[in-house]
Amino acid sequence: MILIDGKAVSAEIRAEVKARSDALEQKFGVRPGLAVVLIGDDPASKVYVRNKVKACEESGIRSFAHYLPADATREEAISLLRKLACDEKVHGILVQLPLPKQLDAQELLREIPVEKDVDGFSAENVGRLSLKQEGTVACTPLGVMELLKRYKISVAGKRAVVVGRSNIVGKPMAMLLMNADATVTVCHSKTANLPEECRRADILVAAIGKAKFIGADMVKEGAAVIDVGMDRDENGKLCGDVDFEAVKEKVSYITPVPGGVGPMTVTMLMYNACAAAERALQK
Ligand code: NAP
Repeated sequence: MILIDGKAVSAEIRAEVKARSDALEQKFGVRPGLAVVLIGDDPASKVYVRNKVKACEESGIRSFAHYLPADATREEAISLLRKLACDEKVHGILVQLPLPKQLDAQELLREIPVEKDVDGFSAENVGRLSLKQEGTVACTPLGVMELLKRYKISVAGKRAVVVGRSNIVGKPMAMLLMNADATVTVCHSKTANLPEECRRADILVAAIGKAKFIGADMVKEGAAVIDVGMDRDENGKLCGDVDFEAVKEKVSYITPVPGGVGPMTVTMLMYNACAAAERALQK
């Protein structure tokens, strides 16, 4: 069994992004800029924003953190996003979700121009992915594809099963695997006989949100297992959707939690911000 080291791959990609940012600085005198908007005081969101700002520092990306209070109005939020949309120093805009109740996330996300949508959540970018056109892809599934690529896990012709069909993970994940010529099955809470579906997978991606849900009886011998889940076990300890200890001896590759897919998500945000800057500057 090979343990997929998301931290190591992450460090590698951040160094590559830094080199690309240095090249932009040399050629255009400009570094990629990422605006991170936090509205309200959700403690988890604050930690995520802090991590993103720190990742920017490591990757040669300029970060612009903007904070609005929990009672911010729709007009205040839209006005900030419109300012960022026009700001030439800002190549990517990220609105940290979830938002306070009075704000409509979809309405605010529509204020982000497609070329600055570094999360890849806009209808335009989702459409481009489904049409297999160039665009920005959601960070977590993009990170999974990088792990597969860098560990030379072949995808073409393989049977891939994605458990979960959310807009931010499951669906784009399935699309990426299909675009890479896998035969893809998407499972969800209404899937009949989930264990049987999972046992067919050469590549199994779990994005469910249920601690240790995928047991050894749901995994094929020699499969590559990618665990997107970020859950808490019965002792409050961070764990994934896969029962790692039960599954690890059966598989050829597996991602741990923590240290697997997790570090890749923020890293791919850096990658997307850098790519957005390259596109804007090299136009
Ligand atoms: P989500 O929006 O809650 O979607 C969960 C999906 O799992 C849904 O499609 C749901 O099916 C399916 N599901 C739930 N119970 C199931 C069951 N018993 N059998 C089969 N399918 C079931 O979650 P998400 O945002 O995609 O996130 C999934 C997990 O990934 C969470 O643990 C989250 O914390 C983690 N995550 C990690 C990262 C990272 O950076 N590592 C990033 C994003 C998310 P229905 O559609 O039928 O309800």
